[in-house]
Amino acid sequence: MLAPVLVLNANFEPINVCDTHRAIGLILSDKASMVINGCGYIRTVAVNFPRPSVIRLEKMVSRPRPRLKLTRREVFRRDSYICQYCGRKINDLTIDHVVPRHMGGQHIWTNVVAACPQCNHRKGGRRLEDAGMHVLHIPKEPPTSAFYIFSRHLNENSEWEPFLQGW
Ligand SMILES: [Zn+2]
Repeated sequence: MLAPVLVLNANFEPINVCDTHRAIGLILSDKASMVINGCGYIRTVAVNFPRPSVIRLEKMVSRPRPRLKLTRREVFRRDSYICQYCGRKINDLTIDHVVPRHMGGQHIWTNVVAACPQCNHRKGGRRLEDAGMHVLHIPKEPPTSAFYIFSRHLNENSEWEPFLQGW
């Protein structure tokens, strides 16, 4: 019941991801309809209910564009899981503040990069110029497209792709 379900606005714009439990609640209260079902069925007391994978709201809702929260996972995804100092692709990445926090560096997209533990340690609490290091890519806020925001679910929900294309 916790599997993610893509929620489309009435105009088919992808606006949210909710869990199966909430999606079924929206369908049963006629607030949304199933666009495609995923694998299998949900067994309820009365019936076997097809598990939704994509639903669409019956009424258009207006909401601000979804924005990505700054999380470790999203920083690593933006940086393609590559240490932004040495270019290695490794599993145990860390977050480095380019301008160290104790020097006033903020916890914002443009001041955080993925770094391997060795580079993070080597840089220490220093500025790039003091450490003699540089970043491979200047850190930026990631794209705000619905496609980018929700595409991290595509590995496990490839059927969402046509609904994300172009948004
Ligand atoms: Zn590194």
